[in-house]
Amino acid sequence: VAALLQRTGSPVLVVANKVDDQVHEAGVWELLGLGLGEPHPVSALHGRGTGDMLDALLAVLPDEAGDGSTVDPDTAVPRDEVLAVALVGRPNVGKSTLFNRLLREDRSVVHDEAGTTRDAVDTVVETEDGPIRFIDTAGMRRRARIDQSTEYYSLVRALRAVDEADVAVLVVDTTVGVTHQDQRLAERVHLAGCPVVVVANKWDLADEEARETIAEQVDDRLGFLGGVELLRASALSGRGIHRLLPTVLDARDAYHRRIPTAELNQVLRRAQAATPAPAGGRVLYGTQGATDPPTFTLFANRRLPRTYLRYLEKQLRTGLGLEATPVKLRVRVRPSRRRT
Ligand code: GDP
Ligand code: MG
Repeated sequence: VAALLQRTGSPVLVVANKVDDQVHEAGVWELLGLGLGEPHPVSALHGRGTGDMLDALLAVLPDEAGDGSTVDPDTAVPRDEVLAVALVGRPNVGKSTLFNRLLREDRSVVHDEAGTTRDAVDTVVETEDGPIRFIDTAGMRRRARIDQSTEYYSLVRALRAVDEADVAVLVVDTTVGVTHQDQRLAERVHLAGCPVVVVANKWDLADEEARETIAEQVDDRLGFLGGVELLRASALSGRGIHRLLPTVLDARDAYHRRIPTAELNQVLRRAQAATPAPAGGRVLYGTQGATDPPTFTLFANRRLPRTYLRYLEKQLRTGLGLEATPVKLRVRVRPSRRRT
């Protein structure tokens, strides 16, 4: 086997297994005779030596892009510690313009990094709150018009980016409003399980009516997201753009946040005192069942109307500082013993 491997020209690691203790290490050096370099003693059963073996393995692996480009290991932040952001939206809504606008912000230091797909190049922006990696999506950098087939391809790319993203920025064109395609894209983002920040772009071009209806449209047509932060912006003029990165960071934090039960119930009590549910309905108490996004279980004495649940949801989002993330509510009916 050793002779065969030598001929392949691929890097080979010799791993000496069953070296459960130091006593057995002495036997390892025999394996030098295989002509495949220094053997790595491990115990597969106990894990001994496997860390060193993995280091040796990583050292001989080709870099991720496979094209010779590397990230300096001393300065690079580990990939999964960098917040990954995907800019998604229909063609022509202004993603490229927005992206370039973000890069022009003078405080940001920018470098490129090999993306996960072969020809992708992600862009890392250093911000005061840490680095942000913008996942490459087809045509994000270019401003070219795209034809039908590349439009399909760019959608595929966008979906892949969303799978990898911690936060998605959905760009919509305020002059056009929230379209069916925007809805479908948002659905995919939602399924990928990441929070969404919606940018109502081209604000400068939008007339009074479009400006007034966009928030409503986002509520109506993207309501399944459980409420999203809406940023009114113009990528062209730069209006509202300074708020994007802070909002993205908020969204990430809020998405993972765990709310103390006492605080949750305080907000529930206050909301119900201000506007009680109809027909004697009442939330007795609530707990947070899950994060990502924050999901609350409300124990109620009877079924509550949808409109009232939407009211509570809004109150929870504002009262608990969760504006930047969708939240989910589940209701369990637990009749109280007291008769009303
Ligand atoms: P993409 O296909 O989503 O990447 O869209 P682009 O960034 O290529 O923008 C499409 C067109 O919209 C370009 O002509 C931009 O100059 C224009 N555009 C983008 N953002 C704005 C904006 O906020 N205001 C105005 N007036 N035009 C914009
Ligand atoms: Mg583009």
